[in-house]
Amino acid sequence: MTLYGLMQERPLLIADLLRYAATYHGDRQVATRTVEGPMHSYGYAEAEQRSKKLVNVLNKLGVEDSDRVGTLAWSTYRHFELFYAASGMGAVLHTTNPRLFDEQIIYIINHAEDKVLFIDLTFIPIVERIAPKLTSVKFFVAMTDRAHMPDSSLDLLCYEDLLSDASADYEWPEFDERKASSLCYTSGTTGNPKGVLYSHRSTVIHAMAAARNGAFGISPYDALMPIAPMYHANAWSLPYVAPMCGAKLVLPGPGMDGESIQDIIEREGVTFTCAVPTIFTTLFQYLEKTGKRIDSLKRAMIGGSAVPRAMSDKLLDTYGVQVLQIWGMTELSPLGTLSTSTPRVDQLPEAERLDILSRQGRAQYGLEIKVVGPDGAEVPRDGQTSGDLWVRGPWVSRGYFREEREVVDADGWFNTGDVVAIDGYGYIKITDRSKDVIKSGGEWISSIDLENLAIAHPKVHMAAVVGVFHPKWEERPLMIVLPKEGVTVSEDEILSFMDGKVAKWWLPDAVVIVDEIPMTATGKYKKTEIRDIYRNHLVERLEKLA
Ligand code: ADP
Repeated sequence: MTLYGLMQERPLLIADLLRYAATYHGDRQVATRTVEGPMHSYGYAEAEQRSKKLVNVLNKLGVEDSDRVGTLAWSTYRHFELFYAASGMGAVLHTTNPRLFDEQIIYIINHAEDKVLFIDLTFIPIVERIAPKLTSVKFFVAMTDRAHMPDSSLDLLCYEDLLSDASADYEWPEFDERKASSLCYTSGTTGNPKGVLYSHRSTVIHAMAAARNGAFGISPYDALMPIAPMYHANAWSLPYVAPMCGAKLVLPGPGMDGESIQDIIEREGVTFTCAVPTIFTTLFQYLEKTGKRIDSLKRAMIGGSAVPRAMSDKLLDTYGVQVLQIWGMTELSPLGTLSTSTPRVDQLPEAERLDILSRQGRAQYGLEIKVVGPDGAEVPRDGQTSGDLWVRGPWVSRGYFREEREVVDADGWFNTGDVVAIDGYGYIKITDRSKDVIKSGGEWISSIDLENLAIAHPKVHMAAVVGVFHPKWEERPLMIVLPKEGVTVSEDEILSFMDGKVAKWWLPDAVVIVDEIPMTATGKYKKTEIRDIYRNHLVERLEKLA
């Protein structure tokens, strides 16, 4: 007979993170740059009181168990209250990325069947445009106070009015930890966006795994600022990690420009941040122009796209900021791998150590990874052989919201769609997303490697590489380069800079200098669009030469 342990099975619930912070770190601050302009600060104790009031408001608006509560909002304390109130009461928080096209936002909100929609002032014009096409929303709430309520064609409720009329009398309920807590759609660069539906259990386990030493390593002495927005994979879990650890939480609101970011880092003493690489490109420009510093910042978690080596070197050498590269996806809550060191790697010669740590990192306990070749077998861990990256673990999706098909194989593995090589120390290096891999005469070329190389050129602001049709090789790399402000750069300069640093046959067949690179709503190069624009570029060039 199986003998079961005699330990309690308390459910892992999101509201308990805030309850803990309110009790043991009640005066630790949540500081926000508000959408209205000024800074706002309060402690976790007040955040919990207001979140409880918000539950009573949601109840009044008719939100019932498992209903979706939608948001189109920046990272602010009001959004933070929604994170806890909606999930904590047993409804589902649904964050939508406001940078998507109207048609995608309409699709996502209707597909999720949001019952109430909370909107920041910035995004009210979007909702005014799309409201006639929203089929499920019963109430629109402007996330502001009475004094800032806009004139609008919408029938808008006022967030602060609703809260001031509500009682804070509420006990967080206890329920099954497997219940859905929040919903987040991936950008869907191809096809419709897909809804990733997190549970209380997956969210809390992920936050514990992310927070611990050896991963983010967060303590009550830290001040965490997610620059990755709350609408992009839950700001990479920092709104859960901060209260869990009693760390200060700093929310940058709409201030995504270099000046606002530098200002809030210094003003609030931010020690740890997370963002996509383009944010740091913008920040560097501002810091270099003004000579200002970001001295409180000790660590930056960067991911979403590959981190160029030139970026992590500059952060460390010039600003004393240690870079943790993260590879992740919305489907992974989002933490996949992390480029933290180990004693074994620390003993390697400096150049080799830095090279390994510039990769996308290694799995943390809780997430299994495997790299599978075309024959279905795992590839050797030689750092060279590429294959498809599969993952499995308690914070990985097994399906998408309101889609029948399971997205995992019979053993529970999820195919990430990324192509990687893995080295003997367990660090992965991304070659490409499988749909972006360049196949030249049957051999693979990594667009990411070429991009990282070009960005190290002092005149280059951004560089994207795609595979385009070539009559002989099938596909060859083409690079588009956006120079830094006020400088010009030529194709020859870029090519001779790269020459000798990669195999000759990897060098792009063309480098096109552009004044804009198409980007996705989550700060990635829009490679489908770039491929479309330059589809015939090489053929035309060859014809001209002939
Ligand atoms: P989207 O931005 O399309 O909404 P995700 O944020 O889930 O969706 O994107 C996940 C993808 O981003 C990964 O599958 C991978 O291709 C890419 N990615 C994430 N982190 C990194 C990284 N550190 N280096 C390279 N690519 C990355």
